[in-house]
Formats: sequence, structure tokens, C-alpha cells
Amino acid sequence: MFCETVGNPAGNVSDLAGLAAVAHAAGVPLIVDNTVPTPILVRPIDHGADVVIHSLTKFLGGHGTTLGGIIIDSGKFPWKQHAARFPMLTEPDESYHGLVYTDHYGASAYVGRCRSVFQRTMGAVLAPISAFLLLQGIETVALRVERHVENARRVAEFLRGDSRVASVSYAGFPESPYYPLVQKYLGGRACSLLTFAINGGFDGGVRFYDALRLFKRLVNLGDAKSLACHPASTTHRQMSREEQRLAGIGPETIRLSVGIEHIDDIIADLDQALAAAARG
Ligand SMILES: *Cc1c(COP(=O)(O)O)cnc(C)c1O
Repeated sequence: MFCETVGNPAGNVSDLAGLAAVAHAAGVPLIVDNTVPTPILVRPIDHGADVVIHSLTKFLGGHGTTLGGIIIDSGKFPWKQHAARFPMLTEPDESYHGLVYTDHYGASAYVGRCRSVFQRTMGAVLAPISAFLLLQGIETVALRVERHVENARRVAEFLRGDSRVASVSYAGFPESPYYPLVQKYLGGRACSLLTFAINGGFDGGVRFYDALRLFKRLVNLGDAKSLACHPASTTHRQMSREEQRLAGIGPETIRLSVGIEHIDDIIADLDQALAAAARG
């Protein structure tokens, strides 16, 4: 079973312990993509996840310079107890001289197979300079995430109080359906990815987007720099309005990944771009 701890772009929060219970009752592992909250906000293995994955490209690297990913195997899933389901791990691999991963690697069977098979057949090896850049980013991730979280809360409050904004979707507001899960799993710290609906529909969204100065117009997330995306005119523009709605995107939806700049500068940029959008 697979989930994201916090979904991108909707910001929905998964009930990790509930999903782990369902997965384990069915004899399958829970694999969690924890890219958006980072291990600073939640460690899914503590809540029953068996395997955790992250894009290192986002908050962990933190500077939008380097692509990478990581798989963390808790070593807790009992592959052998469900051997018939997982022959890749529990039966001899002829391409590796008949190796049985669960016998050879024990608790590390899953990540051991990922490493030996995908490294060999697909070249999934991080370049040394990429490892260096990502490790430098990881040195500051705890501090950056603290600031991301605080800045996002201030931005959400600013947007909620502004008449040029129709609605704000932010899991840190008590009226959000995800608020209880933010308390339970994220220590009350909602993530720095949030969406809002701008007045003026599609054209209002385009004008807002074009007017941004501090915010970079980028579909990445988790950069130290503040980033914005207007899905209806960029990432999702090939879709019909109906298809966009099904993907949870309206013509007026703006997604923000709030960065670590000074909060006054962030809000000043949003304010002037909202003014530009309202001027028409
Ligand atoms: C970006 C992203 C990925 C993919 O990561 P890349 O490093 O871009 O390949 C996976 N999961 C989530 C939640 C992401 O935001």
C-alpha cells in the first residue's frame, strides 16, 4: 500500500497508523512518500510505515540544484511470512546466482534488492557532486523547515484576511478537515505547501502569476526560495476545465511553496501581485 504523508498539491494528510493497520491486516507493507513534511515534521516508521521514500530534490537538498531520491527500509516487514506474495524477495534470483534476498540480507531484503538489482540494471547511482550538494543541504534542513512552517502560517493568515482572495486551503487552520491529523502526526506544524483561490478566475490567476517578483514561477517545491505555480495556465493547461476539476484544480487555484525569506518580503510580494491581479 502506498501513500504520501502529505499530498501534493492538495495538502491532504494521511492517517498513517490507520493505513498501516489496514495494510498489515492484508499482509502487505505500507510505503510512504514523506517528501512534503520531511523527517523533521514526521517520521512515518514511528507510525507503522515499513518503507519511507523521499525526493531529495525538494526540502532535503533545499536549493533546487540537485536531483536525487532515497529509500529508507525499516527492516520490519515480515516478507517471509507472506512469501508467496513476494517471490522477488523470497525465491532464488537466477540473475544473481540463485540468491534469495530474504536469506542473504535478512531485515534489509527490500532495500538490498533495490540496491543490487537497480544499481546494476538501471545505473541508479548518485553522482559524487550530487551527493555532496545534497549532504550540504541536509545539514540545514531542520532550521529551514522550522522557518518554512512559520512563514507558511503567516502567509495563510495574511491570505485568509484578504478580500482579494476567495479561499485558502491550509491544514493548519482548525476548520481544515486535516487539522486533527496535523496535530496527531506533525506536532501541530502544517507544511509550507498551500493553495488558495484568487478572485477573478483564470485571468486573475494569470495576472497574479505574471506580477510576482520575489516568488519564482516554478513547479518545484521545498526550495529555500518561495515558489508559486498557477496550474491552470502551466502544468495542467493541456487538460479541459472538467479534467482540471477532477484533478482538484480550479482556474483560480494558486499553489505556493513558501520559502525562508523574511516574512515581510514574502507578504509584500503577494500583496503587490494581488493588487496587480485586481487592477485587471
Ligand atoms: C517531486 C516529488 C517526487 C519526485 O521527486 P524528483 O526528485 O523530482 O524525482 C516524488 N514525490 C513527491 C511528493 C514529490 O513532490
